[in-house]
Amino acid sequence: MKAAPFAATTMLSNSATVGLLRRPVLAMATPAVGTAEGDGMQTWIVDRCGPIDQRPLRRNEQDDPLPGPGQLRVRVSCCGVCRTDLHLAEGDLAPRRPQVVPGHEVVGRVDALGVGADRFAIGERVGVAWLAQTDGTCRFCRRGAENLCIEPRFTGWDIDGGYADACLVDEAYAYRLPDSLDDEHAAPLLCAGIIGYRALRCAAVPPGGRLGIYGFGASAHLTAQIALHQGLRVHVLTRGEGNQKLAAELGADSVGGPADTAPEPLDGAILFAPAGELVPVALRALDRGATLAVAGIWLSDIPALDYAGELFQERRLRSVTANTRSDGEQLLALAERFAIRATTVAYPMAKAPEALADLAHDRFSGAAVLHN
Ligand SMILES: [Zn+2]
Ligand SMILES: [Zn+2]
Repeated sequence: MKAAPFAATTMLSNSATVGLLRRPVLAMATPAVGTAEGDGMQTWIVDRCGPIDQRPLRRNEQDDPLPGPGQLRVRVSCCGVCRTDLHLAEGDLAPRRPQVVPGHEVVGRVDALGVGADRFAIGERVGVAWLAQTDGTCRFCRRGAENLCIEPRFTGWDIDGGYADACLVDEAYAYRLPDSLDDEHAAPLLCAGIIGYRALRCAAVPPGGRLGIYGFGASAHLTAQIALHQGLRVHVLTRGEGNQKLAAELGADSVGGPADTAPEPLDGAILFAPAGELVPVALRALDRGATLAVAGIWLSDIPALDYAGELFQERRLRSVTANTRSDGEQLLALAERFAIRATTVAYPMAKAPEALADLAHDRFSGAAVLHN
């Protein structure tokens, strides 16, 4: 059984609907606007996992995908580059399907509707994120924790993602995007923003409290903005001069190196860097009863912990696993309200391997976004 369609919480403004054509629900897939059926599309696929400098991604041409029941086909405008794409390409994350197309921060326009798809109109802008499907019936879905679904499917891991001219999405898992954000600045919100927001909630910092952020990439730089808008004191501990400079520019209360001691005890912390050796460092920085949330899907080995110095006094260590659609809707609403703005670096889609290599080698700060 499919999950019930997620109720839209944001309606398009009148101006945004001008020019959109709401098509009747069709019994078969609708050809793309202005595109002949069967035209090939360019994609990037994970060909053979390996070090990014050995170019594990390969350019591929395939037919435009046809939307199934309840699905949208999205003509990709932009796709953000997430560290998960790098873990997948390099084999840290085992591929769940051969030759999958990565990319789960997709912004594009609906250009075909599958049978029964009526939540979005042809031409409407949508976002496609990491959580692609859940079963809707397992004990976790039933209690509102669909991020823990026992049979989830993820965009760019199980299902072809946005390193492509087009991709498919179940309409119940697509997002409406705030009009205030252009495509390039909306893309990083769809994973970096959403996961960071969930991690921030998991870190459970009380109002006015002190948050530590370890690592300062795409997700962290968005999360820091939300935390600052919420009135938290934010201490950023990261490597990389560019990252430290960005943290300072965004208004962090202090900025230091990853192994530095935060200037005050932390009421909560988020580990964004995929570096297990920072777990004990961050735990030691916590005040009594505080939580360290590990935001990444992959982490290098955690060294042995010292119970007295790193966990006792009710300090907590927890992971953050995917997100619910509600997390996504909340993050997008906050991004609009607080005018959260990603610092982005644009690459043409044809340069996806270069973008991933630059991410691997810390050659930019903020978020890389691929453009078609
Ligand atoms: Zn489930
Ligand atoms: Zn991601």
